[in-house]
Amino acid sequence: MTPVTHGLLPLLLAHRRLPRTGDRPAGLASGLVAGFGVLPDLLCPHLDILARHAAWSHSLAGGLGLGLLAWPCARWALGPTSPWQRVGTCAALATISHVGLDLVTGGVPLFLPVSTRVVGAHYVPFWLWIASDTACVLGVYLIYRAFPRLRSAKRSHAAR
Ligand SMILES: [Zn+2]
Repeated sequence: MTPVTHGLLPLLLAHRRLPRTGDRPAGLASGLVAGFGVLPDLLCPHLDILARHAAWSHSLAGGLGLGLLAWPCARWALGPTSPWQRVGTCAALATISHVGLDLVTGGVPLFLPVSTRVVGAHYVPFWLWIASDTACVLGVYLIYRAFPRLRSAKRSHAAR
């Protein structure tokens, strides 16, 4: 999958669990979840599949280790009185989902550093990657921009 889907798909799945600012999921919490979804690609950037097959951040240990970092990062960024545990859990799952999605779209070195064997394969055709990116961008647009505007327009219309 591309970084677009890695960042936005967890937002689509977790947006109801995130703290809200008005009608929208809060920006900082959303950024944490999306950022942790993309983090394995940011730490080991790669343009070809062979480079991904050597990326420690795409292993089980790397995904779990980065996922564990999500909780202290969420507490630090959102503050101790916020629902940082919930946001940290969503961010951790976003990182782990990255490894899972890449496992079915070309494979990952799941057991690094114990074994360099690549687990997974190309189960998802490339055209579906593009369709997934498009659907994720559209879904995030609807949730973060279009639906809140519709709701506030309805509210102001009903108040008249
Ligand atoms: Zn990746």
